[in-house]
This record gives sequence, structure tokens and C-alpha cells, in this order.
Amino acid sequence: MILLDGKLLSAQIKQEIKTEVERIASAGGKKPHLAAVLVGHNGASETYVASKIKNCEDVGFKSSLFRFDVSVSEQTLLEQIYALNHDADVDGFIVQLPLPAHISENTIMEAINPAKDVDGFHPVNVGRMCKGLPTYISATPFGVLEMFKRYDISTAGKHCVVVGRSQIVGLPMAILMQRNAYPGNCTVTICHSRTPNLKEVCRSADILVAALGRPDFITADMVKEDAVVIDVGLTRVPDATKKSGFALKGDVKFDEVAPKCSYITPVPGGVGLMTICALLNNTLLAAKGEIY
Ligand code: NAP
Repeated sequence: MILLDGKLLSAQIKQEIKTEVERIASAGGKKPHLAAVLVGHNGASETYVASKIKNCEDVGFKSSLFRFDVSVSEQTLLEQIYALNHDADVDGFIVQLPLPAHISENTIMEAINPAKDVDGFHPVNVGRMCKGLPTYISATPFGVLEMFKRYDISTAGKHCVVVGRSQIVGLPMAILMQRNAYPGNCTVTICHSRTPNLKEVCRSADILVAALGRPDFITADMVKEDAVVIDVGLTRVPDATKKSGFALKGDVKFDEVAPKCSYITPVPGGVGLMTICALLNNTLLAAKGEIY
């Protein structure tokens, strides 16, 4: 079993990005600039945004944070988005999800200029991904693809099962794994909460991507011998032994599944770190004008 080490890979990728930022600066260019919009005080969102900002600093990006109270109106948020769309110094920006229920996530996503949508959630960027055109690929699937590449994992002709069909993880992951490219060329099955024979389907996977948000859901009896297992799940569970009061749990019961796998990601230290690198990478692409 080989551990897909997100810590090691993300350190390498961040060093590569930092080197590129230094090259741009020495050629007289400006620092890539990522802005984040954060609404309310959701603990997980606060942590994710703080981590994104810290990672920007690590690689030499400029970052800005725009905070709003949970009661902010959709109109006020839209005005902030229009301002960021027109701010020539901002190369890309994200609106941290989830948003409060009175705000339409679709309306907000569609208001973002696709050229600055470094999360890759705008319908134009999703459509470009489906057509195989240059685009910002949403960060988590992009991070997983990078893991396949850097560990030279073969994907062509494999059966890839993706558990979860969310717009930001499961669906783009499935689309990317079936495309005629590397990583890709898989036969893909997407599972969700209405899939009746989930255990059998998972057991037929050469590559199993778990993205459900249910800790320890994937057990050893659901995994084929020598499968590649990618655990996207990241759920906070109470843990009195931690200073924060919680631990992060994946969707895969790691201890019993790992011995059966050819490759597996740990949680934490796996896909989550790759996701942040993918966002940095998309911001670099935006700054260099390589997509639009
Ligand atoms: P989501 O929007 O809640 O989607 C979960 C998906 O899992 C849905 O499609 C749901 O099916 C399916 N599902 C739920 N219970 C199931 C069950 N018992 N059997 C089969 N399918 C089931 O979640 P998400 O945003 O995709 O996130 C999934 C997990 O990944 C979460 O733990 C999240 O925190 C984590 N995440 C991690 C990263 C990272 O960087 N590592 C990034 C994003 C998300 P239905 O569609 O039928 O409801």
C-alpha cells in the first residue's frame, strides 16, 4: 500500500508556485492577487478561508478578505462581486460556501466574472470543463487529478466509482475521470443516496472516490483488493483530546481499508491540502492570463 501524501505533494507544488511568483516579480510583473468573500461565522468556513490566506502568503501572493455579517442582503453581496469583477488588481476571487439560506448560491456564482472564477463554479467554467476547453477546474477534483499525475497512477480503462454527486466535488470528479485524457479514460459510475446496491458497486471499483461527508462510511468489505482509494470526506467530529475540540474524519475507515489498497489518501494530510494547492494554481493561471 502506498500512501498518497498530500503533505509532501503540496509542499512541492507550493515551492513550484513560489518560484514562478518570484520569476514574475523579477521580470517586473505584479504579485498574483486572490480575494475571498466570507459571510457569517461558520467555524469550518472560517478555518478554510484562514488557511487559503495563509497559503497565499506562503507562496508570495497578495490576498484580501471581504467579510460580511450573516444578515447581509443578496444585493450587497452582489455589489461586492461586481466591485471585485472590475478591480484590475484582483486576479481571482472566491465566495466561500455555504451561504446563508436567504442568499441564492446560484445567483452569486453566476455574478462572478468567469475569468476571475478561480473556484471553477461558474456555469461557463463548468461547461468549458465538460467540453474539454481550458478552464478553472474546481479545486478538489483538480487536486485529485494532480495526485494521480504525480504518483503516476494509471487510470485508462479502469472502473472509477465516485460516491457523491455534488456540483463542487462528485460531479466534476466523475466528468474529469471519463474524459479522453490523462488522468481520465475511466469507465465511471456515479453513486448517491438513492443508489440501492452501493456496496457491490464500490466493490467493483478500481478507483474509488469517496465524497459523501459521512465519516468512516466506506468499510473494507466495500473495497476491491488493490483498489486506489481517494477519500475526499472532511467532517468535524467532537474530540476532547484536541485543543480545537474536534478532529477531522474522512469518509473511509482508513485502518481496515488501507491494507487492501494499492494507493490511499489519509485524512487529514491528503486531498484537503491538494485542494488549496489547486486554488493557488488556478489563481496563478488567472494572473498569467492563461485561461481567458
Ligand atoms: P454534499 O454536497 O453534501 O454531497 C454529498 C453527496 O454524497 C450527495 O451527492 C449525496 O447524495 C451523497 N451521499 C450522502 N449520503 C450518502 C449515502 N449514504 N450513500 C450514497 N451517497 C450519499 O457534499 P460535498 O460538498 O460534495 O462534500 C462531500 C465531503 O467532502 C464532505 O465531507 C466535505 O467536507 C468534503 N470536502 C472536502 C474537500 C477537501 O478539500 N478535502 C473539499 C470539498 C468537500 P444525494 O445527492 O442523493 O443527496
